[in-house]
Amino acid sequence: MTWPDTVKLKNLTWNRSLDSNFNKQIKIDYLIVGQGIAGTMMAYHLIKAGKRILVVDNGVSSSSMIAGGLFNPVTGRRFVKSWLIDELLPCAETVYKDMEVILGKKLLYKLPIVKYLSGEEEKEVYERSIQDDKKKYIAGFTASESGNKYASCEIKGGGYIDTLLLITAFRKYLDQQHSFVESNFAYNDIIINELNIVWGDFQACSIIFCEGYRATENPYFPGLPFNLAKGEILTVRIPGLYAENILMSTGYLVPVGNDIYKMGSTYEWDDLTTLPTEKGRKELIGKLKKITELPFEILNHEAGIRPAVKQRRPLLGKSHINDKMFILNGLGTKGVILAPYFALQLAEYILQGKPIEKDVDINFS
Ligand SMILES: Cc1cc2nc3c(=O)[nH]c(=O)nc-3n(C[C@H](O)[C@H](O)[C@H](O)COP(=O)(O)OP(=O)(O)OC[C@H]3O[C@@H](n4cnc5c(N)ncnc54)[C@H](O)[C@@H]3O)c2cc1C
Repeated sequence: MTWPDTVKLKNLTWNRSLDSNFNKQIKIDYLIVGQGIAGTMMAYHLIKAGKRILVVDNGVSSSSMIAGGLFNPVTGRRFVKSWLIDELLPCAETVYKDMEVILGKKLLYKLPIVKYLSGEEEKEVYERSIQDDKKKYIAGFTASESGNKYASCEIKGGGYIDTLLLITAFRKYLDQQHSFVESNFAYNDIIINELNIVWGDFQACSIIFCEGYRATENPYFPGLPFNLAKGEILTVRIPGLYAENILMSTGYLVPVGNDIYKMGSTYEWDDLTTLPTEKGRKELIGKLKKITELPFEILNHEAGIRPAVKQRRPLLGKSHINDKMFILNGLGTKGVILAPYFALQLAEYILQGKPIEKDVDINFS
């Protein structure tokens, strides 16, 4: 194969001129396809383990880049404790804090989530929840000053990750390590040998696919139970709101500074394009108006496809078609909190043979 036209050759040329195997194939341990939050976390854990990696991403805007970045330990109208949250939260905090040091950027914002209670039923659920095992995540009921009849409660242990900064800063970091190529990866460009897989000028021991929703086309992982969900999100300026917490009603409003907020999000299962729609815009404005009546200005309107799964569990493991191929996907609506933990689990499976939890192992689901 020759390099596709879209490949940025700058660093490869530089890399090759330093490589003693000039004009031969460059040996790497792992080729990672896709650098959303899944590919980012996979690369992070493998670099930490001392492995030589190459990440390939086509540079198309990803779900991770537009996400609200929210993580929330108690979700929905019934205050359901998020699956595995007691394990996920500490892992995520350790990883994001470490990445802040590596990248020299602030990524993790631990903020209370102020949840408006929509009615008597939700208030009753809240009252039951503060008696049970969720109580460490739920703070006291607060009377509202904004005329909301049922006021609000505060969810603790939540916050948001600046995912756009994470992805772009980590991409730059990988690039500086000569570990990133901007290119489209085509399945028929690889040559599979007994001991390795060749992609262009690279010879990898294994490939790890972190392609987000595009995994539905991956011939090495057929039939995975995806239930893709499009989502739309607004970036808005709301002068005078001065919210320092995440505000949540039927949607969420994340304060990102300078009077600017992320207003998310919609769910759509039929239209699976990445184009924002008028319908989505109207829905998001409706959600915003349930949180504040202040005037606002829309700065941006984006859409992406969540790699959601019917069972709402991530998808990890080895291909049954080729044992040099692995997948990390199915992060659905919770990529920010799931990715650090499950990328580590897949890395430990690949490197040390540690078992993958049955709930998420593609060979069990
Ligand atoms: C509107 C919206 C709001 C959201 N808000 C939140 C939130 O608040 N909190 C939260 O936790 N989650 C949120 N999510 C979900 C979150 O975005 C996903 O869980 C997560 O981004 C999935 O990450 P991923 O790395 O699997 O996929 P992606 O982010 O889609 O990344 C896949 C990457 O692979 C690349 N790629 C794919 N195929 C190829 C190929 N053949 N060649 C080269 N590159 C390729 C793509 O270009 C992309 O960069 C939201 C999603 C949407 C749409």
